[in-house]
Amino acid sequence: MQLPDPSSTRHPGPAPYLRIATEEAFAPPEMLEIYRRILSGANVDPGFRGLMGFYMSSPSERAQHIMRCLTDMDALRLKHMDDCGVDMQVLALTSPGVQVMDKATAVSFARIANDYLADAIRRHPTRFAGMIAVAPQDPQAAAKEIERGVSQLGMNAVVINSHTQGEYLSDTKFWDIFAAAEAHDAPIYLHPNSLPPGMYEPFMEAGLDGAIYGFGVETGLHALRIITAGVFDRFPKLRLILGHMGEALPFWAYRLDYMHRATVKSQRYDSVKPLRRQPSDYLRENVYITNSGVAWEPAIKFSQDFLGADRVLYAMDYPYQHAVDEVIALDGMTMSPEHKKRFFQTNAETVFKIPPR
Ligand code: CA
Repeated sequence: MQLPDPSSTRHPGPAPYLRIATEEAFAPPEMLEIYRRILSGANVDPGFRGLMGFYMSSPSERAQHIMRCLTDMDALRLKHMDDCGVDMQVLALTSPGVQVMDKATAVSFARIANDYLADAIRRHPTRFAGMIAVAPQDPQAAAKEIERGVSQLGMNAVVINSHTQGEYLSDTKFWDIFAAAEAHDAPIYLHPNSLPPGMYEPFMEAGLDGAIYGFGVETGLHALRIITAGVFDRFPKLRLILGHMGEALPFWAYRLDYMHRATVKSQRYDSVKPLRRQPSDYLRENVYITNSGVAWEPAIKFSQDFLGADRVLYAMDYPYQHAVDEVIALDGMTMSPEHKKRFFQTNAETVFKIPPR
């Protein structure tokens, strides 16, 4: 197995497709000021302190690079995209976005962040597209912001950074958000967050709480909670996008179906009710996945085989995973030209409603 070499200085060549990277992060400097205030207060969430507390204060080269890139929406970002052969980034407010803030600040800053992103898209309309940030702390305000994002800012997807202060969207109190996303035909990118207090300790003591493993486990759990709560039975046209090869759920699909059937039959949990379809059916019909952070041909091909080639999208995870060599490796995948173009370009154009050039 050949894994990409992160130290290479090679550049991707021209390709018969656009490379549209679909899980790329940014942070308005004003949000970092809010984070600094939160981090200097009492009772800081340990996962948030471990994640943004680290990136915002570490002198390490990696952390400094990430902070520089997150806050640049012009020359530096465009140069890095050009170096990597990335034609377009679909941008999302970096995790945890507004979800770590108090309700009033979260609602008002989501609007500010969306306006900030819309300005950057207006400056570089052929290079950037974006997702709408919302504050799940106030589901009705989030629904309104989805409406505003789609109709006034021209963004066609929503980003939610997994749990909101330990609460999951499977709780019906959040379902106005799903109703708005479905009504506006805007898929929700369920992006990782740092682990909530109930999960953090056993992952953190092994150094596995972050993107290496913990993020994927927690976000996969969140997606499964959405499925088993019957969200897609209630909102059949709702679509989710999951990064990191669907947070490994495609690989779990067989066992999820088998054990969900067995658990429903046993009536062991009040929370596990019969669904109209099997868990894997919702994965195939209501979920798109991206390969953010996983430039690995066998996983991409398996997912295309399971979900369909129209449901697997390219993403880099810039700036957290900023690797030119991965683009070269993915260009070189043994795959039909049609499927490769879907992966890099046309699936993103469809899902995010990016007008073809
Ligand atoms: Ca990411």
